[in-house]
Amino acid sequence: MTRVFVAGATGSIGQQTFDVIDAVNDRAPGSIEVVGISVNSSVGDAALIAKKYNVGLVIVAGLNSSDAGSSESFPTRCEVVYGTDALDNVGEQADVVVNGIVGFAGLSVTLSALRSGKRLALANKESLVAAGPIVASARATPGAEIVPVDSEHCAIHQCLRSGQRSEVASLVLTSSGGPFRTYSPAQLQAVTVADALNHPTWSMGPKITVDSSTLMNKGLEVIEAHELFGFSYDMINVVVHPQSIVHSMVGYRDGSTIAQLSMPTMCGPIGYALGYPDRSVASFGAIDWSQPLGLTFEAPRREVFGALDLAYEAGRRGGGAPAWLNAANEVIVDGFLQNQLTWDSIAPLLTEALAQYADVSLVTPSDVLDVDRHARAVTAELIAKWSRR
Ligand code: NAD
Ligand code: MG
Repeated sequence: MTRVFVAGATGSIGQQTFDVIDAVNDRAPGSIEVVGISVNSSVGDAALIAKKYNVGLVIVAGLNSSDAGSSESFPTRCEVVYGTDALDNVGEQADVVVNGIVGFAGLSVTLSALRSGKRLALANKESLVAAGPIVASARATPGAEIVPVDSEHCAIHQCLRSGQRSEVASLVLTSSGGPFRTYSPAQLQAVTVADALNHPTWSMGPKITVDSSTLMNKGLEVIEAHELFGFSYDMINVVVHPQSIVHSMVGYRDGSTIAQLSMPTMCGPIGYALGYPDRSVASFGAIDWSQPLGLTFEAPRREVFGALDLAYEAGRRGGGAPAWLNAANEVIVDGFLQNQLTWDSIAPLLTEALAQYADVSLVTPSDVLDVDRHARAVTAELIAKWSRR
């Protein structure tokens, strides 16, 4: 039996994690137990999940106990804890921690799972991108491992099982290209929040959907791939594949490319991360090969989607640069979602924000928090200036 903690239980990844758990338990009853969940503030939804899965621990990270109502609606044996500090101990009772929190706020869950020597099923890429060196030392804890849930990295994780590390020539991350893949600069000037939230192949939370429209998501994933698998940036490439069926590939020195294919559903990577090293007993996104299937590939338009190269730049610079860029991006995307900024101001603002970064090395978690805070303040000022133009 696998005991699972689901952080970010009400989000897109959280909800699909429960779909996977239900499907696996249908096939192999009692094989996965949900020992705990975290939500930001939706207490009502947390209570429903707690009842359905008879969960023992619920963390409501975004509320203090003084804001909390009565916990009557929770099962009697369920402990309900309020405040972000509780996220520091999520690894204790679980075998696997699914980190489906969005943004830098997921860092404490990433560190807690690894420091407890547990498996981290990682969807929250921002924690790994921002805190690479800190996560690397937590990952050295005996028993700790990261199995990626991000579909590209889950694909690469699978493709790497077919050869030696020393035989790898390149990692190829696929990108759908987002909703604006073919847009002209004039069309890009007019895009709305609703347009950016209308992803062609994936249904996801708002932040990652906007990141997919700018290719910042792919940029973050390039850094994520470097941190997860340890290959140099020169070996990590991006190709646009609008159908989102080839989830990523590994090129080997003999000229072979190994790819992982399935229909786009995050249940596949979640099932892989929960079951690893065994294949999930439940099937997700299997391709029907009796039907015609066209797969196309093209280069990203790097001059239009400038965020991609900014991420390579920050990744190569290392130290606090990825944390800085990630924080700037979170603030800018928030501004866009609140209609304070136009879509085509996102990449120029990211460029200005990264230009203000001064090299810092990351030694302790508080170094990362400092870089994150500083970048958020600088970016807020840049946005204020931008809005006055
Ligand atoms: P979402 O917005 O749907 O859900 C986010 C979850 O995090 C919610 O449960 C919310 O309550 C919780 N949360 C938000 N702010 C929090 C805070 N400050 N403290 C604690 N909890 C907080 O997001 P999502 O689309 O599920 O994405 C989650 C993560 O997974 C992101 O890092 C994203 O990049 C990654 N990811 C998502 C998908 C996908 O298909 N949705 C695919 C690949 C990777
Ligand atoms: Mg991805």
